[in-house]
Amino acid sequence: MDALSGSAATGAAIKADCYGLGVDTCLPVLRDAGAAGFFVAHWSEVPGALAYVPGEKIAVLHGPLHDADCSFARATGAVPVINSLEQARRWTSSGGGPCHLMVDTGINRLGIAPGEAGDPSIAALEVDVLMSHLASADEDSDRNAQQSRRFAEIAQSLPHKRTSLANSAGIALDEGFHHDLTRPGLSLYGGIARAELGSRIRQVAFPQAAILQTRQLGTGDAVGYNGEFVAPSPTPTAIVSLGYADGFLRGWGGAYLIHEGRKLPLLGKVSMDMVVVDLSAAPELAEGDWLDLPYYLPDAARLSGLSQYEALTVLGRRFRR
Ligand SMILES: *Cc1c(COP(=O)(O)O)cnc(C)c1O
Repeated sequence: MDALSGSAATGAAIKADCYGLGVDTCLPVLRDAGAAGFFVAHWSEVPGALAYVPGEKIAVLHGPLHDADCSFARATGAVPVINSLEQARRWTSSGGGPCHLMVDTGINRLGIAPGEAGDPSIAALEVDVLMSHLASADEDSDRNAQQSRRFAEIAQSLPHKRTSLANSAGIALDEGFHHDLTRPGLSLYGGIARAELGSRIRQVAFPQAAILQTRQLGTGDAVGYNGEFVAPSPTPTAIVSLGYADGFLRGWGGAYLIHEGRKLPLLGKVSMDMVVVDLSAAPELAEGDWLDLPYYLPDAARLSGLSQYEALTVLGRRFRR
């Protein structure tokens, strides 16, 4: 992602435990790869990151909602992203200091409105990174150019050290979106937000689950809760240690697990801790053998109906990171 970011420095979104893949696993790798800064959503995510990087490198996207957040920022060095006039006043009255500032240029989520840029509470801030967030970077939409234009305008009227606009998909748009600092998240973890990234991004997470038991279904035998699958003929099956408590949600019903390239269709409902697969394509498999989940993320999204983001962040704690 850094190579694709041109002359911009590249940060890393590490919120949601590095999109479910684990701060302890991912953050040292991102740090050693030279990531220029790290973005979390919640203050509660700061301590986990502090084990690997100094507070000054950690930005908290949700900003200070309470005075306690300001004290916590000072104690840890973590840098708040200011998202509203209220947050600007709170930060300044708690003592101020360097912060980042989010401006809303069209996503209508967090950030001050461009019309609020002249407010005295904003003028009082010591803004390091002035940032905005793209709503439709994964599409070829006029909104991208429009947000880019609005961001450039506001950057002229507001003192700051650096500017930042692009998420993973935004990096693939064009260099006009790169500014001083890019903020990829999804693509660091194997997600492909735009077709242009398909040849540059590899799968990162390779979840596997073990076979607990094998059994032979006779014609007419029904599998699992509500007996949704009824064997039309004798069928070898495997009961697999994988379920919705692991983030393998019911939307995966009808998909398959994989063993050495062979697809093993899921039979019946996904249970909390188990699924059943058809072993016809791999009848030699036995208790303890490992199966792969189809977790190349564009495929995973298609098969499950989840977004690539969801497919990553729902992965349960029982998977070893
Ligand atoms: C999550 C997030 C990112 C990263 O977005 P991806 O689409 O995962 O690359 C960047 N900036 C902000 C403000 C975010 O909330």
